Formats: sequence, structure tokens, C-alpha cells
Amino acid sequence: MTAGGWAWTVDRRAEDEALRAAADERVAAAALAVDADRSAAAVGAAVLGTAGAASVRTGSRAALDAAVAQAGGTLASSAERVGDDAVRQALAAVLGAAEQEAGTASAVRLRALAAEVAGAERVVVDAVAAHEAAQAAERAAAERAAAAASRPRTTSPGAPAAPAPADRSCATTYSGPAFYTSPPTDGGDGSNGRLPASALSAVSWTRDSRGTPFYLRSDAAAALERLNVAFRAALGHDLALDLTYRDLDTQVAMRAALGSVAAVPGTSSHGTGLAIDVPELPCTYGWDSAASAWLVANGPTYGWVSPAWARQGGSNPEYWHYEYRG
Ligand SMILES: [Zn+2]
Repeated sequence: MTAGGWAWTVDRRAEDEALRAAADERVAAAALAVDADRSAAAVGAAVLGTAGAASVRTGSRAALDAAVAQAGGTLASSAERVGDDAVRQALAAVLGAAEQEAGTASAVRLRALAAEVAGAERVVVDAVAAHEAAQAAERAAAERAAAAASRPRTTSPGAPAAPAPADRSCATTYSGPAFYTSPPTDGGDGSNGRLPASALSAVSWTRDSRGTPFYLRSDAAAALERLNVAFRAALGHDLALDLTYRDLDTQVAMRAALGSVAAVPGTSSHGTGLAIDVPELPCTYGWDSAASAWLVANGPTYGWVSPAWARQGGSNPEYWHYEYRG
């Protein structure tokens, strides 16, 4: 990777962290609001200040306990699944320190510890995903080498060997022009493909290859956040996304390029911010993949389904397409 590539990755990472931090802040603000309600109920009590402070600390402790529990699970499930165990040892150290301090730390310190735990956990989750990707690449290379070795040589002696065709079994099944997910539509009236920023939320864990956040209608985005937590716990990596909200102009261009495979402009579930496409990678998300099996079985718990028309044998089979039905 070039130095520029690294810088770009670091920038992306920083932006992703900022998105996550904003999400954490919303959770903390919600917890404080609950605490504030509890405090209001105590109005009239002479010990209001003390009760309020104790209540805030209770909320902060609960946030830390939740972060510790989740990170503990990640630590256990990531054993021997990272390239360098140092990231797991770092998480173990952060967890140990947090547990030691938790009994006496202030509310502010508890929040800081929860953030440290979540940050160290994220590093481990990313390391597992990177390790699995590297292993998959190694396996694919080994399969290609084996296929090339077993292929009969048909060239005449002395002639240069024909290049071995790449093993395409895991390559993307998409061969059309590139389309990208859309940002909210400026001045959008809320109709299909014209959703304004106020109707949409970006998912927190990933962006597209150009850095555009993946937008969905806000309730669908919140449900997908919950789904991804469970998906990551089961599969060991985040759910990857390819396209989410798609504006009308893009849908018109897709229809022109792809024909009836693309929905009639103005009717796509991507235009209402209620659909996702995962990457068209048959080995990772295809019909027989573990990810597909998990999504079809567990997605409905979070309101996300594989529509009948998109199933194998459906009217327009698309293993990559899922819709939010609430
Ligand atoms: Zn789709």
C-alpha cells in the first residue's frame, strides 16, 4: 500500500471513529436524560444533589459494565483468530484495569473507561476481520496454484505457456458499470429517490469505496445497527455494504445500463432508504455462504428480510439484496 493509501485509511479510520464517538455520545446523552428524569422524581428530597450524582454514576457504571461484557465476549471468541495476539493482550489489559478501577471511579472516569474498553475491542474486531480476509486470499491463491498445476499443458514444446485463467469462483458476480450509494437529496420532498437528510441516518461502521456514508431511513438504520452487533458476534466481522439509499438520478442511470434487473425508477426499495445490497461476492455472501444463512435466519428479528423475489428460484434472484420491513 502506498503512503497516500495509508494516509487515506488513517483519515477514514479517524472519520469512522468520529461517527462512532457521536453514536456513543448519543447513548450517553440518553442515559443522562433517563438519569435526569430520575432526578426530577426526587425533587423535594433534601438530598437531591447527592441522589442525582449517584444516579448519574449508576448509569455510567452500567455503560462500563455493558462495554466490559461485550469486550469480554470478543476477547474469548477472538482467540487464535488474529495475526498478532498483541491486540488481544492489549484488550485484556484494558479490561483488567477497568475492572480494577470500576468500584471507585467517578462517573466521568467510568465513561472514559467504557470508551477505552470499546476502542480496544474495536481494534480486536478489525484484526479478526483482517486476518480472515488474509486467510481467504491465501486459500484462493492456493486453489489457483493447484488448479494451474493440474491443468494439462496443451501448448507445443518451446512455446510460452498460456497464462492460467484466474479462478473466478470467488470473484464478484457483478460485471456492470460502477454505481455508488447516494447521499441525502438536497431539497428532497420525501418521495422515492428524493429523501432529504432529515429522513436518513448513516450507519456507523462502514462507508463506500468513495467515502460516502451508507444512508438508510433512520428507523431502518437503527435496526441495521442492532443487526450488525449480532452479525459480528456470530460471524466475527461487520456486515459489509455495497449500496443502501439510491437517489432517483442514479436509479435512472442504473435502469438505462442494466435494464429490467434494475427497478423502474421511482419504485426501488433503495429509493425509500429501506434496502441494502451487500457485496456481490459469492463466497462471502452468496446463496451457500454462512453470512447468507445467518441473515436469512436472523435478519427478520431485526426487521430485515430477504424478499421472496430475491431468493434462489425467485423472480429476480439477488443474494445480495435485503429489505427492511420493520
Ligand atoms: Zn438491492
